[in-house]
Amino acid sequence: METKYIFITGGVASSLGKGIISASLGKLLQARGYHITIQKFDPYINIDPGTLNPYEHGECYVTADGMETDLDLGHYERFTGIETTRDNSVTTGRIYLSVIERERRGDYLGKTIQVVPHITDEIKRRIAPLLSPLGGKTSRDTSSPPGGAGGGLLDFVITEIGGTIGDIESLPFLEAIRQLRWELGPQRALNVHLTYVPYLAAAGELKTKPTQTSVKQLQGLGIQPEVLVLRSEYDLSDELRAKVAHFCNVDVEAVVQSQDLPSIYEVPINMQRQGLDAIILKKMGLEVGATPELGPWRKFLELRKQATEVVDIALVGKYDLQDAYKSILESLAHAGTYNNRKVRTHFVNSEFLTRGNIAEQLGGMAGVVICPGFGQRGIEGKILAAEYCRTRDVPTFGICLGMQMMVIEFARNVLGYADANSNEMDSTTQHNVIDMMEEQKAVKQMGGTMRLGAYDCELQQGSRVAEAYNPQGKTLRRTTIRERHRHRYEFNNKYKDEYEQNGMRCVGINPSTSLVEIVEIPALRWYIGTQFHPEYSSTVLHPHPLFMDFIKACI
Ligand code: GLN
Repeated sequence: METKYIFITGGVASSLGKGIISASLGKLLQARGYHITIQKFDPYINIDPGTLNPYEHGECYVTADGMETDLDLGHYERFTGIETTRDNSVTTGRIYLSVIERERRGDYLGKTIQVVPHITDEIKRRIAPLLSPLGGKTSRDTSSPPGGAGGGLLDFVITEIGGTIGDIESLPFLEAIRQLRWELGPQRALNVHLTYVPYLAAAGELKTKPTQTSVKQLQGLGIQPEVLVLRSEYDLSDELRAKVAHFCNVDVEAVVQSQDLPSIYEVPINMQRQGLDAIILKKMGLEVGATPELGPWRKFLELRKQATEVVDIALVGKYDLQDAYKSILESLAHAGTYNNRKVRTHFVNSEFLTRGNIAEQLGGMAGVVICPGFGQRGIEGKILAAEYCRTRDVPTFGICLGMQMMVIEFARNVLGYADANSNEMDSTTQHNVIDMMEEQKAVKQMGGTMRLGAYDCELQQGSRVAEAYNPQGKTLRRTTIRERHRHRYEFNNKYKDEYEQNGMRCVGINPSTSLVEIVEIPALRWYIGTQFHPEYSSTVLHPHPLFMDFIKACI
């Protein structure tokens, strides 16, 4: 089958859940046996979100092939279990960069470079149906245009356009979509538009005018949405949906509602119930066939509903907003569900953590996660949390910077190096137990230059992590794992023997560089730090083994 393209746009307001709708649609088409991929186009100028403060843009999600991307890619992977690549996340900055680089090379042979056609052509090239294999050719510059060579690999490319209709920045993306729809025809390209239906309490009414206006704006740009997804806090009547359909040139059955649900993972079921995937298949000339049962997915939701007993987990970090630790929160929730528990997370701001208040903050917790991060702010609180948990044997999971803080705390309080630190925080310390990686020392540019993406790690036999990665019932024993990274600093191997002799073991090692990937204290119940980010690879149907084991220990 020739690749088909679904464009997801959003109107009225941001934060309506375009990413969840895209992920849900991907899930539903995948369940019907189609090969799909989901990509996100972000209209901002940064080349990638890697240089963005989490307060600006939430978590930076990292793909296995080492791209720093939008957190929506995390949703795509958690819903579908399909690994994304650097081609799945594109920003305006990246589009412009490649056009400008080509202009400097002289590739345009004297032409004036313009938004249309040069920028829009570059956007169209990146909506291309290539799956770039991990470690393989990843540059979109060598890829074929939509429908060209490689098009046989994918049945559907779902492209989510970031931002809201009416934004100046997203105009070139919408123009590219308009052109593609015209070139490919209605059976190969379709637009799903997500809008918001607000409820005016004083009038006691749900209002459709913003949706009508948003669709008119789209139409003004030459795009007629075939499907509307209406986000609302309330149930929408058939009458209201008919009214929207009538005003927007959309079939009534193609007006779907997306009301608030207790979990984002219920959205695919809700979309399936309303036939979102079936409508799209019909419109694109495909046979609809039987509705997939989504058995394992429903089982997860069932477990989730039954899991009412609470396990309290503290998240020690410096970013006081949910989106900053999105993947960690989701990974904890997945693992909680499969352990028949409801994970209740408590954000503990490490900046304000002191010896005086730590017992009050962490005392009632079944477990503690020490979060990733960068820079000085809040690190003494993380070190304090590591000490508190180590000396009281509270199950503790340190991730990336969190692991580094566990290592520093151990050096200060067990090895007796009071000034132990990371070179990131103190470049002059005598005891740099966390040191800048050798290859990072020559790095001058900040963007995209960390150690990024998936690398191998060998597990030490008999360690807790080796057991965690090989839970009972699994026959094939894993001795080497592969996890994703995002860091510049590492455990300083000069101190390795001293750590091992004093009870903190280096139980995960990168086989080619000897970089310490995992530390644990076997004498404690669960005190493990990972240099990598396991949270990027936990999915609904495959919860991450370390989070599974951590929650088990917390219980
Ligand atoms: N700042 C630390 C480093 O660069 C940790 C990074 C992280 O937590 N992602 O090594």
